[in-house]
Amino acid sequence: MRHIKYVFVTGGVVSSLGKGLTAASLGTLLELRGLKVVLQKFDPYLNVDPGTMSPYEHGEVYVLDDGAETDLDLGHYERFTSQPLTRLNNLTSGQVYQSVLRKERRGDYLGKTIQVIPHVTNEIKDRIREVGAASGADVIITEIGGTTGDIEGLPFLEALRQFAIEAGRDNVLFIHVTLVPYIKAAGELKSKPSQQSVAKLREIGIQPQILVCRTEHAIDQELREKLAIFCNVRSDAVIEEVDVDHSVYELPLVLRREGMDALVCEFLKLDTREPDLTEWTAFVEHLIRPRHHVRIGVVGKYIELQDAYKSVYEALTHAGAFNDAKVELIRLEAEVLEETGTAPELASIDGILVPGGFGERGIEGKIVAARYAREHRVPYLGLCLGMQIATIEFARDVCGLEGANSTEFEPHPTHPVIAILEEQKVVTKKGGTMRLGSYPCDLRPGTLAARLYGKPTIHERHRHRFEFNPDYRERLEAAGLVVSGTSPDGLLAEIIELPQHPFFIASQFHPEFLSKPTRPHPLFAGFIAAALERRKNS
Ligand code: GLN
Repeated sequence: MRHIKYVFVTGGVVSSLGKGLTAASLGTLLELRGLKVVLQKFDPYLNVDPGTMSPYEHGEVYVLDDGAETDLDLGHYERFTSQPLTRLNNLTSGQVYQSVLRKERRGDYLGKTIQVIPHVTNEIKDRIREVGAASGADVIITEIGGTTGDIEGLPFLEALRQFAIEAGRDNVLFIHVTLVPYIKAAGELKSKPSQQSVAKLREIGIQPQILVCRTEHAIDQELREKLAIFCNVRSDAVIEEVDVDHSVYELPLVLRREGMDALVCEFLKLDTREPDLTEWTAFVEHLIRPRHHVRIGVVGKYIELQDAYKSVYEALTHAGAFNDAKVELIRLEAEVLEETGTAPELASIDGILVPGGFGERGIEGKIVAARYAREHRVPYLGLCLGMQIATIEFARDVCGLEGANSTEFEPHPTHPVIAILEEQKVVTKKGGTMRLGSYPCDLRPGTLAARLYGKPTIHERHRHRFEFNPDYRERLEAAGLVVSGTSPDGLLAEIIELPQHPFFIASQFHPEFLSKPTRPHPLFAGFIAAALERRKNS
């Protein structure tokens, strides 16, 4: 009988060690060895999902095909491996307790006292098995959010300890990602924090077999031996993960050099071929040594946060490598544009991107940016809110619909060109409060969208409440705007573009969630190509 293999990735010492990227990179290597790999994340926080958290709390909310709103690490997983994920692949404490309490209310526990052990831990173990059965994967890599020693993470670790015994020795592997800090005054790398964090895991009954050491400097043989002895792992299972120079996409190559994939296969008794990294290496090469350069202005209200537009930045990176160009990001604060009506950076920018967003703050600044792009013939890519913004701007300035707005920002605008549609209210009630997940979209032949995608029907992921108001479609189209993508029933405008402009396109969906390193998204690839073209000619 074929056994599913389980890899559990925990983190120690500090947060933000890049556990998700480490897990994802291991996924890349195992997949290139011919294995079917599924990644998932356990998050110990009590929110049911991150959909309700502000970008200040949590960074980007990553949306899956099935409409699940998940942790941004799932974005790394989907970019680094090819298996599409589902809502089963992000389990939070909130979901665990919600399910346990639902069962308790239903009387499923037959009068028993409900406790963390066994009821909460059973719920977690059941989910691991459910994912195993549903995915048909050879290997399931599970990242446990948080840091070892956190109180809220304990039920997860206890569940994994039990699971490891039940699944059998050769089928479960624990990897601990830790920090080996460099103390400048002593001129030394220190092993103590790692020793202590592994000791903490052992207290719970978990002994990791592989130690991944995040470090700014190379780890010499002596330190390797020391870490091995004190953390109770083989010395060849001390993996050095030095900070990458250029890009997170170098990480699979770093882990490969350290022999991590072979080691994982040895521990799990997986007999596979060697991985073929040709395509990945070529992509990284293009990233590191591009021949061209473009400046892309991203206009947002969370622009100072590293993680708020994660997938957008990654999609730009992929499209840049594809076009052999370094993408220099110019982060433009929407509120500044709103106050001053302009920004000095605009003059030297090759492309303007307005990403998704919610709420009124900064809206007028984004409209300034869309107007600048339209009037100065600067390539424009609008994503979700960025499409709504472009529509409002066009309605106001080209169609003369003074006071055009979205009902999100003004309850009763003179011209509600973006609004919640009556027909959609039924849908929004069913699936929570938003239109979420993958929907089909038909492309109009002969348009920029049809040219970029090269096929008549596409599927893209959504996360929004408001829509292009069809009552205004005729007026906007008469003034030169083209609705180049619609829902199959023709009702919902999914893509708009301006054919008189060198490159002005915006989508109601979020294309950034489907961009892959070696398969850039067509809208992003086209956008960067247009930006390069503009730069060449200017
Ligand atoms: N706030 C807009 C809406 O709800 C856009 C959402 C988004 O950009 N993700 O429709």
